[in-house]
Amino acid sequence: MTDIIIIGAGLTGLTLAYLLRDKGLNITIIEGRNRIGGRIHTITKDDLTTMEMGATWLGKKHNTLLQLLKELNIDIMEQEMGTTAVYEAISTSPPQIVQLPPNNDPSYRIKNGSSKLITALHDKLSTSTTILTNEVVKSLRFTENEISVTTQNQVLNCSKVISTLPPNLLANTIDITPNLPEDISELMKSTHTWMGESIKIGIHYKAPFWQEGNLSGTIVSNVGPIPEMYDHSNKGKERYALKGFLNGNYFSLTKDQRLQKVLSQLKKYYGEQVDNYVHYEEKVWSQDSFTYVTYDHHVLPHQHNGHVNYRKSYFNNRFFIGGSETADQYPGYMDGAVRNAHFIAQQILD
Ligand SMILES: Cc1cc2nc3c(=O)[nH]c(=O)nc-3n(C[C@H](O)[C@H](O)[C@H](O)COP(=O)(O)OP(=O)(O)OC[C@H]3O[C@@H](n4cnc5c(N)ncnc54)[C@H](O)[C@@H]3O)c2cc1C
Repeated sequence: MTDIIIIGAGLTGLTLAYLLRDKGLNITIIEGRNRIGGRIHTITKDDLTTMEMGATWLGKKHNTLLQLLKELNIDIMEQEMGTTAVYEAISTSPPQIVQLPPNNDPSYRIKNGSSKLITALHDKLSTSTTILTNEVVKSLRFTENEISVTTQNQVLNCSKVISTLPPNLLANTIDITPNLPEDISELMKSTHTWMGESIKIGIHYKAPFWQEGNLSGTIVSNVGPIPEMYDHSNKGKERYALKGFLNGNYFSLTKDQRLQKVLSQLKKYYGEQVDNYVHYEEKVWSQDSFTYVTYDHHVLPHQHNGHVNYRKSYFNNRFFIGGSETADQYPGYMDGAVRNAHFIAQQILD
């Protein structure tokens, strides 16, 4: 029997296993996808800059995450913003070039991609930690003596289980016996999954034409369908790309239809040269069943993220509802995931 089962090999699950690595515990992490990292997903291709399809930016306030990065010897780099931005206020007026004020609180990216953090954590796990991928947890059954965790392939038993799924996903996709109290089930179903509705887009070019003249790669548009976009070139500035978001309502288009929308918006600012892209990447997170499931009713961005009831445990301290959305500070963000891992590790050790 395993001591601990962690459901999900995202940042929370891997950090938790990392924090418990030298405590003499047998840990099994069960991951539904064929990769680890969850909502951290960097695409690496030869000759192209690494492209973030998930988490990208952090700030100096995210000190728990920064501490972990330091511990793992992972560098960060400042997000390039330029001195100007393309700004589109309304569809009836042409885009303007606006001057950006000096940024006293810049954003940072993880050098060589956010997934560096995932691989570094993975590399530090102890030999008593096993990661099973392509194993989808379907149900949890708590009896007096043990917990049975059932996937599509097998049943594993353990003494404690930690979910790191976005709470709405847990409530809707994993069957728990006996039932959890009504209040926590309802809370999970109305807890927003941060960025669950978002579409990330990345487009690679041979040259950074957006840095020429008075322009920059920073785009803010109320017209869309790209509301914001930024330079995503690598630290050495020899591989170039733009990266941003596409309005989440475009999830039902085909990839090519979305690409055409991206190109036609960029053309307004930079002209026909945008058609000469080298590669286009996108990720529609609302179509990924390991992150997103629709809500029973309307839920606002960040709703119930960090709710105080997520500090409780269930079934005599044998079940913990974790994941970034449950963190007491910066819930939904990478920093929240790391904080939550610290909180649960402490609960387990206590
Ligand atoms: C597009 C996007 C942009 C973002 N941008 C930023 C940003 O710039 N800065 C920032 O700080 N944060 C950002 N975030 C948020 C950040 O990615 C998350 O806070 C963090 O990665 C969450 O980690 P987690 O481990 O708590 O959850 P997850 O990463 O969601 O991990 C949960 C894991 O559980 C697995 N799983 C799901 N169901 C099952 C099942 N039934 N059985 C087994 N495994 C299962 C999933 O595959 C996943 O690996 C962004 C997120 C997205 C999607």
